[in-house]
Amino acid sequence: MQVKTKQFNQGAAVAMRNPTIQKNLLDLYHGFHSARLKASAATPDWEALQDRARAIKEHTVENLDHYLALIEENVTKAGGKVYFADDDVAANKYVVDLAKARGVKTVIKSKSMVSEEMGLNHHFEDAGIESVETDLGEYIIQLAGETPFHIVAPAIHKSRQDVSQLFHEKLGSMPSEDITELGREARRQLRQKFIQADMGITGANFIVAETGTVVLVTNEGNGRMSTSMPKLHVAITGMEKVVPSMDDLGTFLRLLIRSATGQRLTSYVTAVTGPRREHEVDGPEEFHLVIVDNGRSKLLANPELRESLYCIRCGACLNACPVYRKVGGHAYGWVYPGPIGAIVSPVLTGIGNAKDLPFASSLCGACKEACPVRINIPRMLLVLRRELTEGTTYPDQKRVSLFERIAFRMWRIGFQNPALLRIGTAVGRIAQIPFARNGRIKNAPFLSKWTRYRTLPALPKSSFRDRWRKLSNEK
Ligand code: SF4
Repeated sequence: MQVKTKQFNQGAAVAMRNPTIQKNLLDLYHGFHSARLKASAATPDWEALQDRARAIKEHTVENLDHYLALIEENVTKAGGKVYFADDDVAANKYVVDLAKARGVKTVIKSKSMVSEEMGLNHHFEDAGIESVETDLGEYIIQLAGETPFHIVAPAIHKSRQDVSQLFHEKLGSMPSEDITELGREARRQLRQKFIQADMGITGANFIVAETGTVVLVTNEGNGRMSTSMPKLHVAITGMEKVVPSMDDLGTFLRLLIRSATGQRLTSYVTAVTGPRREHEVDGPEEFHLVIVDNGRSKLLANPELRESLYCIRCGACLNACPVYRKVGGHAYGWVYPGPIGAIVSPVLTGIGNAKDLPFASSLCGACKEACPVRINIPRMLLVLRRELTEGTTYPDQKRVSLFERIAFRMWRIGFQNPALLRIGTAVGRIAQIPFARNGRIKNAPFLSKWTRYRTLPALPKSSFRDRWRKLSNEK
């Protein structure tokens, strides 16, 4: 997938000018966000579940090598094959080579964010293999040639009119604004692909180490069909999706769906352990699990950013974030939008590619409050900001302009020396005259980033010290 994280500002401006996107983002807040609040309030042991989930994730990530080895052992025991891919290149090669070796013509895909990271559909296309997304939202954006807008609801930015027009243009269907009819049309198209497909690709919401089981959570049943209809099933997932046991899985299943959509239980929970066994009536003849690193070990190696690997991709932090709810998902320029994307994308794509993302936050803490695993997102955003301003880890990637550096140095010196501070404020009072209106500074060229979209308080006519002296003299 093309990385466009450098174009955050342009992408944000496009979304903010689009009334459909703004309306849909507002609906998202009143829909998913409000439903999450109700669902968590109605779950008596919610806080205890969060604590438990966090403790499980902490333990698992700290012992990831042990659990990954256990997964390999158990998947192999169940008749499947595990491939550890260092990066997207290795993962794409493995999957496309496998498809070619088995003579695959059509692939059906259940939602997989890691395969988006890899740009797998393009690689299939280059190999002459048809690859069809079967999650309704993913299907819509595949037809539109776009990327997901939201972790849970990839086509949330589109109106029913947009979808009707898209289906009419791409599938030749009659225009209709009836959502049920649009759903039926997608089903008609996809049913044929399910029957035709030689290979099913899925992600994994969780992988249970003690059994080697891949667990999928869907509301449309497409995950179940993608894993049971084709002869070959390949699950592709990031190495952080591990949970140690089936008992632990229960904790995450309760938290995930309540945090994502506010449902008590998702419509389909599918658990796949290896290929079909002799006594089973359906399931694939061959099963492969591709576990992808693709930069995650950089997060694992950094104790300050490691907790980002606890993420269960529920999307709650996106729905709660006042910045995401204005700029939407495409502005973030890669697979993972919103607050968690602002941490993960700079590390996975290279911090120089995504310098604006850690700054795309008001640090209000709504994401931390919404997160079912209690991930401290604002703290990690500050860590990345520090990296970018101080250049400790990436000295060539400093984001602070020379002007800002000089200004803050002078500010520091000034505040340590009252005489210098008086001279500085006297100069500032004169310099601000062309830009100060009603006590606020706007559009000052030397402070353009600070004053283009907001105002700064102007320096008052007299300082506190002067006023104090005046008042004392009047007494
Ligand atoms: S960071 Fe937390 S709230 Fe955001 S997607 Fe991940 S688990 Fe959900």
